[in-house]
Amino acid sequence: MQTIQVLDPASGDVVSEVPVSSTTEVEAAVARSREAADGWARCAPAERAAAVARAAERVRKDAPELARRTTAEMGRPAQLAEGGVAAAADAMVQYAELGPLHRGRSLQGSWDATDLMVPEPRGVVAVITPWNDPVAVPAGLLAAALVSGNTVVFKPSERTPATGARLAESFAAELPPGVLQTVQGGAETGATLAGHEAVDVVCHVGSTRAGRAIARAAAGSGAKVVLENGGNDPLVVDADVDPEWAAAQAALGGFINSGQLCTAVERVHVHESLAADFLAALVAEAESLVLGPGSDPGTTLGPLVDVRARSEVHDQVRQALDAGARLLTGGTVPAGPGAFYPATVLTDVRPDMAVMAEETFGPVVPVMPAASFGEALEAATRSRYGLAATVLTGSMAHAQEAWRRLPVGTVKVNAVFGGAPGGAAQPRGASGDGFGYGPELLDELTRIKVVHLGRATLRGDDR
Ligand code: NAD
Repeated sequence: MQTIQVLDPASGDVVSEVPVSSTTEVEAAVARSREAADGWARCAPAERAAAVARAAERVRKDAPELARRTTAEMGRPAQLAEGGVAAAADAMVQYAELGPLHRGRSLQGSWDATDLMVPEPRGVVAVITPWNDPVAVPAGLLAAALVSGNTVVFKPSERTPATGARLAESFAAELPPGVLQTVQGGAETGATLAGHEAVDVVCHVGSTRAGRAIARAAAGSGAKVVLENGGNDPLVVDADVDPEWAAAQAALGGFINSGQLCTAVERVHVHESLAADFLAALVAEAESLVLGPGSDPGTTLGPLVDVRARSEVHDQVRQALDAGARLLTGGTVPAGPGAFYPATVLTDVRPDMAVMAEETFGPVVPVMPAASFGEALEAATRSRYGLAATVLTGSMAHAQEAWRRLPVGTVKVNAVFGGAPGGAAQPRGASGDGFGYGPELLDELTRIKVVHLGRATLRGDDR
């Protein structure tokens, strides 16, 4: 039997090993999911929601183990891993509350008719997720799909299979058999699941390349796709802001989770009048981080997920340096076991370098000065990705111009993270399509049926 072996990214030791699902097992899971679909669709929304709420309680009770597995499999510092589990339980509770309230409309027909628009589950949903936030990302999708009456086949990332399996156990313990099943494996298993004729929706969170492959497969099978893919988020820094505050924002956005976040700050376009002070402060921020195993309480910068990911990040940095970029800190692969990589700051970069044009899934912040706010904003808009962007400015006019012009799903002004509860966006371009979270995800996972109930003319009625 083929297995996936996951190595601790801090030590290189084996931390988990799970069997890979065969094609036959994936097909059997989809078939069971289809069989369970009708019964689950008929279950009252409040009952489905209660099951998801109970699963959230299980996740809260199991938080230490889920966080421990997260850190062991992908290296995230313990406190951040605990935050990910808490966010997962919160999202589950939110969908348990929203599910029964997700409703259609009544229409204004004639006196003796009733006209309705009613949401119905779509059927079998494949949930295929990444490793970089391995509890919160799948938890939201699973909860939304289940409360809206779909059955689910879940494939966690091959880099965090034991974390994914543990999360799925909390859900499955509260559900009838067949309503949620888990399959394990890498891209090939994902492709078998995503291309299956009996799957109605594929929710994929992950790289653009995989998202595009899934979209092609779904075009053949007729499945709907919801794609939340890579990003290359810019941070635009205006001339009037405090350079130290701006640097702290860049460091938070660029280095948290070791830069392995879809909405990480990927590139900075800074007004040249404060570039020197900004860079000095950003280097100080980078050098203040404590690189170490995620399980050490003092660690503020954990390892990357594995040595393969580290090579990809380091290759981008080396290519930039070969092409004339200047390294201000970091940029070297530390000796010893694990997949550690230091917080890295580059300048003298050009837009065509991969560190600027592509997603760099590591703690690397390239900084490009611009002669004016307009030039910085213009540079920020040029990307094939369209996930999110942040602008730091004291000017209302600049903020207004920025949010209108940036071709992304989420624009943040004066904070790299944050936003009101319930805010959900549609990514653009290479970053995907569809609402992957928020109340609107329930719209994605259901289909509206319009119903017209007329009055029959009975035998003996006057016509
Ligand atoms: P990935 O696409 O390689 O893997 C994600 C999942 O897709 C895994 O389960 C994988 O096995 C599966 N997969 C890979 N190829 C597939 C294929 N051809 N068919 C079906 N399934 C396939 O991505 P990753 O390396 O795990 O995650 C990092 C990426 O995820 C980054 O690009 C990051 O920006 C993105 N991400 C996006 C969001 C978002 O909300 N936009 C959130 C988190 C991560």
